[in-house]
Amino acid sequence: MLEPIVRVAGRDFGPREKASDTLVVSNLSVGWDVEIYYTVITGPREGPVLYVGAGSHGDEVTSIYVALRLAKELGPDELERGAVVVVPIHNPVAVLHKRRWGFIDHLDMNRVWPGDLEGNISERLAGTIFNNFVLESDYVLDLHTAASDGANAPHAIAPPEGWFKPREERPYAAKTDSSLEMARFFGVRFAKRTSAGEVKKYYAYYPGELHVAAPQHGIPAIVVELGEGGRLSSEEFKLGFNGAVNVARWLGILKGDPVEYGEPIILGDFKAVRAPVGGIVVLKARLGEYVEEGSVVAYIETPRGTVEVKTPYAGYVVRVRRYAVVEPGERVVVVAPPLPSRED
Ligand SMILES: [Zn+2]
Repeated sequence: MLEPIVRVAGRDFGPREKASDTLVVSNLSVGWDVEIYYTVITGPREGPVLYVGAGSHGDEVTSIYVALRLAKELGPDELERGAVVVVPIHNPVAVLHKRRWGFIDHLDMNRVWPGDLEGNISERLAGTIFNNFVLESDYVLDLHTAASDGANAPHAIAPPEGWFKPREERPYAAKTDSSLEMARFFGVRFAKRTSAGEVKKYYAYYPGELHVAAPQHGIPAIVVELGEGGRLSSEEFKLGFNGAVNVARWLGILKGDPVEYGEPIILGDFKAVRAPVGGIVVLKARLGEYVEEGSVVAYIETPRGTVEVKTPYAGYVVRVRRYAVVEPGERVVVVAPPLPSRED
């Protein structure tokens, strides 16, 4: 038999195959199985394996749609080498719930990677996907969208520097952390470099996020944030679909030359600008705009008058609130300062 191009979900896939199937994760009280749906597309010869996943959060429609359309439209004839593996819905329970988290365990699935096969359902989903798909891949694109009350300027999130630990046993494994190059070829304007301090603060006991867990196993990974929770955005769908295709071209998996986008603006840690009082939010700042420290980013209309919301930070507006009622302390916008370039 020919050498398999990729082995996922316990199955070998040979050259020029396209297959979709489900993998059982666990059984529920009512007798239903929770399953993961996946698609594998292989090229004519060995090469790197690109994993594309979405739907860790159940209301992130645009990113799920990008993954579904990639699974539908890519075929073996478009591949030069290697394979593309797509899991469009990481957390089917959360999609049924129409919320960020599922109704069974209420866990945020993007805080439990690399998962636990004996844990709660979200941990089992993550563990099953990590062991069966992620570890069999060489690069990871984890597609996300803002939660239902907000919208994101499209951006990538790279793991912290020093988080990548190379692995030797795979012939097409990355030698170094190429997550920022993935972000560049995806074509997003912004890329966030998570600081090591931020990771330690939130994930003291486990890496938690997929793009943080994967590089510890030698797999460069980025999150890509696309659009507004609960809504399908055609503009951001196109960005996401074309971005994933371009990354696959850069890796030599898909035929065709990749588009050479410019370097993304590298952003530091995201800082929330919070509502001083409750009321109706009238946004002034626009997504992607650069705001100066002390400038007005929104007005809050209250029965007692109008209150200005000023940002204490300078930076790019990477997230805005879409649900227009706000209570004290809730996020109105999120601002990210650009990091100085290495030449500075
Ligand atoms: Zn998400």
